[in-house]
Amino acid sequence: MGNRGSRHHRHAADQQPPPAPPKPQAHAPPPPQQPKPKPAAAPAAADAGAVGRVLGRPMEDVRATYTFGRELGRGQFGVTYLVTHRETGQRFACKSIATRKLVHRDDIEDVRREVQIMHHLTGHRNIVELRGAYEDRHSVNLVMELCEGGELFDRIIARGHYTERAAAALCREIVAVVHSCHSMGVFHRDLKPENFLFLNDKEDSPLKATDFGLSVFFKPGETFKDLVGSAYYVAPEVLKRHYGAEADIWSAGVMLYILLSGVPPFWAENEDGIFDAVLHGHIDFSSDPWPSISNGAKDLVKKMLRQDPKERLTASEILNHPWIREDGEAPDKPLDITVISRMKQFRAMNKLKKVALKIVAENLSDEEIMGLKEMFRSLDTDNSGTITLEELRSGLPKLGTKISESEIRQLMEAADVDGNGTIDYAEFISATMHLNRLEKEDHILKAFEYFDKDHSGYITVDELEEALKKYDMGDDKTIKEIIAEVDTDHDGRINYQEFVAMMRNNSPEIVPNRRRMF
Ligand code: CA
Ligand code: CA
Ligand code: CA
Repeated sequence: MGNRGSRHHRHAADQQPPPAPPKPQAHAPPPPQQPKPKPAAAPAAADAGAVGRVLGRPMEDVRATYTFGRELGRGQFGVTYLVTHRETGQRFACKSIATRKLVHRDDIEDVRREVQIMHHLTGHRNIVELRGAYEDRHSVNLVMELCEGGELFDRIIARGHYTERAAAALCREIVAVVHSCHSMGVFHRDLKPENFLFLNDKEDSPLKATDFGLSVFFKPGETFKDLVGSAYYVAPEVLKRHYGAEADIWSAGVMLYILLSGVPPFWAENEDGIFDAVLHGHIDFSSDPWPSISNGAKDLVKKMLRQDPKERLTASEILNHPWIREDGEAPDKPLDITVISRMKQFRAMNKLKKVALKIVAENLSDEEIMGLKEMFRSLDTDNSGTITLEELRSGLPKLGTKISESEIRQLMEAADVDGNGTIDYAEFISATMHLNRLEKEDHILKAFEYFDKDHSGYITVDELEEALKKYDMGDDKTIKEIIAEVDTDHDGRINYQEFVAMMRNNSPEIVPNRRRMF
């Protein structure tokens, strides 16, 4: 497979074999030995200020913030280590990618995009959270949430296969990832059990997608032709080099088949044989344990593995399939579309906070907002640099949800901070960025300094009025409301602590529901 760098070229032989091939097989070949990377030395002082060639921003020593522990695993490009935050003692996983192995420009692009996509998808309960990306002279280090429960792959091996109930629960989490990716304009392209980790050892541990190394941004209807993915999970249209995001559904369908039966649906001795089986598309429902599996389960597998991608179920249709619905009940809430729920959250904020978020948005790095930039571009269909009500009306349903006219108008009003009738780029980013960006103290400090013009340490009523006037909202009533809400010590001005409290506080009604799929 693959026509570009080796990163795209993933042979079946490089992969873990499927959990239990139909024929008895000896142990999997050990992964190819890779030279041990030299331990990254602390960058010399001379590096200070030097720009990294992968992330394109000043280099930063990950070891200044984290201490490195044992190795957790290794892949083609990187080694994952257990790391501990020096101040909080909190443990994370750190994927360390040796920059010297990134020979081709495509390899660098891929790592950069992986970081952008992980930032973009952050906040979903089924996606490993990226805490930070660091680049020094030797490596790019991605510090991520630590998943201690092992790979889904290993649990399938340990059990043979899952019960229908357990398989349905896991499939829901896998498809929740697909739904979140697709509604955020991300096409995963490499869904397989090796790329899902359990957060902890418990039976009901959340499952988290971890590897976005082959993922790309896409616009609705966009097609791709690179031959990427992993043999057992690759969709037939990918082999024909003309495909869209429906290929993720196929891969998830293969995973569901394996969860239920312990063996892959398309199997052969070699890669070409597997591809023939995929293109032929015959699904075996007659071997054990299929005769004892319910028709509902088989129906869903069939509908996820339809040869014609247009006839395949979408992620939200799968989540509404009777076999997979939790307790057989239809979800009473529509599926969460991340950007829409963030805009709703933004709507409920006071005007000082909205302007402050705009200042924060202007200070975010490219890698943090690239995903939202792509979404802005796909909503701004005439490339005018602003999103009109009409563009919002035609674009939001393409994210995979029904949305009423009054809701669309409310979102427009919420995001259009300066009230000129359209959403510009800065307004869009402010209204849709993930609020965990506010965990970084310097973001909040920059916003505070924007308002506190005379650096007195307080935002006075005059300064507030001056700053908000630019957005046509420095009227007495607005100012009074802000002071009443934010000035908790009642001295008539806003100090830094009060400002931080406002920025980090979300009113209870708008705190995102952790379990939001149902
Ligand atoms: Ca436009
Ligand atoms: Ca506007
Ligand atoms: Ca005060």
